[in-house]
Amino acid sequence: MKDKYGRRINYLRVSLVDRCNLRCMYCMPEDGIIKKPHSELLRFEDILKIIRAAARLGVNKIRYTGGEPLIVRNIDYLIKKTAEIQGISDLAITTNGTLLYNLADKLKSSGLKRVNISLDTLKEDKFNQITRGGNINGVLRSIEKCLSIGLTPVKINVVLMKGFNEDEIVDFVNITRNLPLEIRFIELMPIGQAEELYKAYFLSSENVLKNIKSIFQLSPKPTFSDSTVSLYKVKNYRGTIGFISPISCKFCKSCNRIRLTSMGNLKPCLHSDKVINLKSCLGDDKLLIENLKLGIYSKPLQHNMDLENKSASKRMMYQIGG
Ligand code: SAM
Ligand code: SF4
Repeated sequence: MKDKYGRRINYLRVSLVDRCNLRCMYCMPEDGIIKKPHSELLRFEDILKIIRAAARLGVNKIRYTGGEPLIVRNIDYLIKKTAEIQGISDLAITTNGTLLYNLADKLKSSGLKRVNISLDTLKEDKFNQITRGGNINGVLRSIEKCLSIGLTPVKINVVLMKGFNEDEIVDFVNITRNLPLEIRFIELMPIGQAEELYKAYFLSSENVLKNIKSIFQLSPKPTFSDSTVSLYKVKNYRGTIGFISPISCKFCKSCNRIRLTSMGNLKPCLHSDKVINLKSCLGDDKLLIENLKLGIYSKPLQHNMDLENKSASKRMMYQIGG
């Protein structure tokens, strides 16, 4: 289905849970969050019902995210059932990778097509610092495992932060020499915990690209028209590097996505506070479709983070999913 600005909406991101086993400084409060009663969260049947309805409206791409989606018990069952839904041709997860090593085979055989793994640094101590206690080794093992079993393409999300990991940009690019990874440099967004960090830590993709170009011979790689990433390849390297630039080069014009929170609210835009409660209409298929259509139709034209230096969303990244 198209929204009122003519954008074809075919991509639903579903946050399965707002809790996480890490506490990234730009995302989660240090003490974590108060656990919601199970009754407030969508059950697997609810999620599948919403995805079936969305598929009838033309959604063909699903990404499970969170919080940390892999802390959800029996996620392989959800993946299997999602993969069986008619019309769903792409099924991915975004994960911090810490629990992926042991689950990767099971997820792949259940129908998961690919993974995005978040990794903001290649250094053990810095990883521990930014995630407030995480261990990088589990993430690195998971990346290797996904490559070895063909859970590909493996995309690595790197949120760039001035003075924290800008000194590792070249190391990240160098990883693509021998490994077929897509390293995606993401601009820090002023949302939730990052609102306070934004001024001091924001790094613009434009400047980063300029610096990389002064060191490596880069050529652009074509992307799909609804893609939010600009891709490049270093000559003769196996992998690619990408830039996701929601601030310096906002991609709202080609945005094809809507989001579902673990509490059952549809968010037509990551950075708007508008939500449509789908949980309350799960008992009525017609109303569910109507509300989904309303959500798609009312998707705002664009966010104004670049002008206002903050997101209009009052929900946090761990609640909405990345
Ligand atoms: N826990 C999973 C993970 O970290 O991949 C999935 C959820 S996390 C919210 C999804 C993505 O959002 C991660 O790649 C994370 O780095 C990114 N993210 C979180 N807060 C962000 C912010 N303020 N700006 C840019 N990216 C952010
Ligand atoms: Fe957890 Fe992902 Fe947020 Fe880090 S970015 S705290 S791993 S939800």
